[in-house]
Amino acid sequence: MTDIPLVDLRAAHAEVAEEVREGFDRVLASGAYIKGPDVAAFEQEYAAYSGVRHAVGTANGTDALELALRALDLPEGGGVVLPANTFVATAEAVVRAGLRPVLVDVDPEHLLIDPARVAEVLPSAAALLPVHLNGQLAPMAPLLELAGDRPVVEDGAQSQGARQDGRPAGSWGRIAATSFYPGKNLGAYGDAGAVVTDDERLATAVRLIGDHGSGRKYVHERFGFNSRMDTLQAVVLRAKLRRLPAWNEARRAAAARYDALLAGVDGLTTPRTLPGNEHVWHLYAVRIERGRDTVLAELQAAGIGAGVHYPVPVHLQPAFRGLGHTEGAFPVAERAAAELLTLPLYPQITEAQQTRVAETLGKALARI
Ligand SMILES: *Cc1c(COP(=O)(O)O)cnc(C)c1O
Repeated sequence: MTDIPLVDLRAAHAEVAEEVREGFDRVLASGAYIKGPDVAAFEQEYAAYSGVRHAVGTANGTDALELALRALDLPEGGGVVLPANTFVATAEAVVRAGLRPVLVDVDPEHLLIDPARVAEVLPSAAALLPVHLNGQLAPMAPLLELAGDRPVVEDGAQSQGARQDGRPAGSWGRIAATSFYPGKNLGAYGDAGAVVTDDERLATAVRLIGDHGSGRKYVHERFGFNSRMDTLQAVVLRAKLRRLPAWNEARRAAAARYDALLAGVDGLTTPRTLPGNEHVWHLYAVRIERGRDTVLAELQAAGIGAGVHYPVPVHLQPAFRGLGHTEGAFPVAERAAAELLTLPLYPQITEAQQTRVAETLGKALARI
């Protein structure tokens, strides 16, 4: 039996291969490989898709987060509230922007940043940085209400095309960042990212900071760095963006199939969707109360590319020891790290593949 990967990037490539090759030929012949008309066109298309006026292409998603935070000109060392259960890049960007990560726990049902925990740290917050984890939005209305005048920055790296109460990810906060890392729902062929916002002043600041602080050649208005989007990546992203609505729909269908296949399996909880959310299933992660690592090993031995996102929460990472948290600080995130198991899911996954995943998982659990 052939292996079932966690994500199948080749299957996505097959759908856009011709368009991408033509675009690459055109760009390679043009001799211009950074920014240019393809990046500008992608920025317009992605802004429209995100329901905002401006998008700025960046070199990757971590830079996009840093640029969004820097553009806000928050006071040096200001607290930025983010969930403990996220990819480490969210916290890295805060530190790199000269700010201070203020971690909070997540809600036990959806594992999204918990507004009740945010309320507790609000006095030390200069901004909120919710993460739209696994493809669904954090509870934006309560967070915006809590934030008051403080800016809300969305980490939308896992939520391209997701909506809440009909409103797209990226259009809720003052500014949002996303990643086009190859495995994301909209993935480049290398690193890329974007910042989206309705605020023209912020978009201009992001553009400036990500291009050596320069809007005009050799005039450097403010301190910046280099984080521009490659032209070839824009070609890929334009071709894939056109397919993204259909791909996200296919992910929803696949998630519903897993829900049905796994209903009633003992020892396992399927993921929950927050009411009002239109999920895009970047990851389909079940919770396994006992024996997660044994089950993971059995799936992998059977050629099924299951994974764990993320085995160690941010506050227990050696790199973030300086924040001063020890085990027990964020019990919900810690328990999730011990129980979560991500199953293969991508738009082209077949019913037969999903059935095999579910059967193998059921057998492994029965032996625990
Ligand atoms: C992928 C990801 C990032 C970082 O994106 P890169 O493009 O890899 O730098 C940031 N936040 C979250 C939640 C992510 O999943």
